[in-house]
Amino acid sequence: MARRAGVDLGGTKIQAVVMDDGGQVLGSSRQPTPTTGGPRDVVAAVAAAVREGVADAGVALESLAGVGVGSPGDVDDRAGTVTSARNLPGWDGSFPVAGVLGEELEVPVSLANDVDVATVAEYELGSGRPYASLLGVFWGTGVGGGIVLDGKLWHGRASAGEIGHMVVKLGGARCPCGRKGCMEAYAGRGAMEARARREVEDGTRTELFKIMHKRGRTRLTSGVFARALEQGDELAVSLIDRAVEALGAAIASAVNLLDVEAVIIGGGLGVRLGTPYAERIERAMLPHLFSDYRPPAVGTAALGDLGGAIGAALLIPAGRPAQAPT
Ligand SMILES: [Zn+2]
Repeated sequence: MARRAGVDLGGTKIQAVVMDDGGQVLGSSRQPTPTTGGPRDVVAAVAAAVREGVADAGVALESLAGVGVGSPGDVDDRAGTVTSARNLPGWDGSFPVAGVLGEELEVPVSLANDVDVATVAEYELGSGRPYASLLGVFWGTGVGGGIVLDGKLWHGRASAGEIGHMVVKLGGARCPCGRKGCMEAYAGRGAMEARARREVEDGTRTELFKIMHKRGRTRLTSGVFARALEQGDELAVSLIDRAVEALGAAIASAVNLLDVEAVIIGGGLGVRLGTPYAERIERAMLPHLFSDYRPPAVGTAALGDLGGAIGAALLIPAGRPAQAPT
């Protein structure tokens, strides 16, 4: 039977899975994304993650029908390239990921946008299964979004779903994208960390950075935020409260426009903080919903942090025969 591998190429980690035709995960592997070098080093790390995933699954590399990669940046599957993946090291230009990775592993490679594949994974195998239309919201370092309408992923002209850059406050906080008042400027983990650092410089006391150091981290990861919230850290609580309000306003605005049946909250923070926070986001949406008598279902991503890799594996059609060993 043919297997397919999927890789979620993120700014902090590379997650690989090996899946059978039925969508069952047979093995997985996770490793940190290189922080130095360039695209060639990142692609070498992706190849290593696939080899480890294959070993974990106890299958042969030759049994793979293909490898799907969900990538940040500007993804062109036809050309097999990823351009301007700015959260990956030295990746300002264009790099032939499909060609280089395919040659290294000797299997066909398909590429797609990371958030799109995670949305399709939830639609086909996760929390989105009961619905024909949904909005996936991936709450992490940034806030990404994916849209399924009438069973089809909506790309727009290539960059639909940028829910993180819905404006929630005119002339508001500066967003990592350079604009003002975007939802991500309040809810993105990166923006929250930048604000926390400024607050500490101004004399605010917080456990956030102590927890970070104790865990040997250099960034305020989702796990660091979760622990600080458990401890009732005031700064963490106020940052997350602000994030929840911003998420609520932006998601409700998107729902007013699209009227999707369901909203699925995933991403590093979304998965880590889980249902209680998805419920808080749902409540924060209500005052902004035009059809508030008929709100959409709101839930968390059932596939958790494997969703991106599983969605990437779904890029390889089930039933495609495995490559003949060369
Ligand atoms: Zn923005």
